Amino acid sequence: MDRLGQAAVAEQEVAETLDPADWRQLHALSHQVMDDAVAYLRDVRDRPVWQEMPAGVRAVFKAPLPLSPTPLRDVYRQVTEHVMPYPMGNIHPRFWSWYMGSGNFTGALADFLAAIQGSNLGGGNHAAALLDQQVVGWCREMVGMPETAGGTLVSGGSMANLIGLTVARNAKAGVDVREHGVASIEKPLRFYASDQVHSCHRKAMEALGLGNGALRRIPTDESFRIDLAALQEAIDQDRAAGFRPACVIGTAGTVNTGAIDDLGALAAISAREDLWFHVDGCIGALIAIAPGNAHRVAGIGRADSIALDPHKWLHAPFEVGCALVRDAAAHRDAFAVTPEYLESAPRGLASAPWLYDYGLQTTRGFRALKVWMALKEHGAEKFGRLIDQNIAQARHLDRLVEAEPLLELAAPTSINIVCYRYRPPGMTEEALKTVNVEIMLRLQEEGIAAVSDTTIRGRHCLRAAITNHRTRLSDLDLLVAETLRIGAAVASSGTR
Ligand SMILES: *Cc1c(COP(=O)(O)O)cnc(C)c1O
Repeated sequence: MDRLGQAAVAEQEVAETLDPADWRQLHALSHQVMDDAVAYLRDVRDRPVWQEMPAGVRAVFKAPLPLSPTPLRDVYRQVTEHVMPYPMGNIHPRFWSWYMGSGNFTGALADFLAAIQGSNLGGGNHAAALLDQQVVGWCREMVGMPETAGGTLVSGGSMANLIGLTVARNAKAGVDVREHGVASIEKPLRFYASDQVHSCHRKAMEALGLGNGALRRIPTDESFRIDLAALQEAIDQDRAAGFRPACVIGTAGTVNTGAIDDLGALAAISAREDLWFHVDGCIGALIAIAPGNAHRVAGIGRADSIALDPHKWLHAPFEVGCALVRDAAAHRDAFAVTPEYLESAPRGLASAPWLYDYGLQTTRGFRALKVWMALKEHGAEKFGRLIDQNIAQARHLDRLVEAEPLLELAAPTSINIVCYRYRPPGMTEEALKTVNVEIMLRLQEEGIAAVSDTTIRGRHCLRAAITNHRTRLSDLDLLVAETLRIGAAVASSGTR
């Protein structure tokens, strides 16, 4: 060993590190964590969906920055006592709030292994980068986009939509927006979506410098699908008024009611009008793999870009979304830059394409592994059957509501979202809202079930979004029974 090497060894002996002093101790604790984690998931049904945190628990999260060490065993004990008992609840079989997946153990193992390997998916020539690209390819295949399409994994659906809309803006601007900015666009761009469009599109329009006003909300029909005649009229009006119609956003599964726009018709209008056709498929794109329901999203593969969300109906632990773009070169053109410190090399670690050229992040996590491992373990066909199962469960809930005189549907059930409310006779809309909000809160507070609420065409309602591989029909029977029980109690206690 040369002098430098010897110096390095000498230095190592005094250098600090985050690695444990005693690997055997870490080994034992890690096994404990694993045992606890398996039991936590196994017994999830026996716990409340959600529970309020006592003041003592809240206080834990006000503690100041720790400057000195605490043994890991004690840190872990704090997690088991103060964090694990108070989850959001979305892994529970009776969680149907908002819209999210319910996770899976394999995905959690993958997240652990991804962190252990620690690769940076900004790019590079290594296995994680190939695997990341493979998962993008599988997403593309599942929704039926051509093999030449490109894409990228991102944090979730909001980012995936932002990626799609960014490419759309740049492709349709008629100027070099990247160099000269939106101020250089000659005719103001107009984007179109239904009045049921997810709020992330507003944020995207704002972030893209186009402004919320450039996203025209087109009215929907009685099934909450975009009104095609109204869309055509808006496009014609805008052209006549000197705007440049640029992009149609179709929604495959709206967040309020699960409505699926007529994607084939939107593809045809977009082609005829020379517009970018983006599909927000965060909820419904993956219905394409569900044998009983795939027909509902027929034509989705014709889109120019699609946002989909593996952390919803593939139940990947948060976070992972996917943006797909038919024209892979347009996708790259929207984001690629080659700074001097990230040039490619002929061989070695930097000899592969940089994956950060397809989005806004530079460092990217190895989120692909959790999708990859779960898809390998179960096969895509099973995920398709689970989607069919959730849609059938929603139909079951829909029928229970229809059969019950004190309940009513607030919107037609399309896929896995059921909008309903408790409605005793003779109550004003305002009183109904008060009663139904109270039902929702008590369902949560009593740990029975988590539903959320929304307002559809002025009518407030409860909303059960069944994206949950742990839900059974009996859970939905219980939801109805408990809605009626709490409803009767609330109504009789004089909320009227
Ligand atoms: C969930 C959702 C989004 C946003 O996706 P995130 O993964 O939460 O960022 C966008 N559009 C629709 C229709 C959604 O349901």
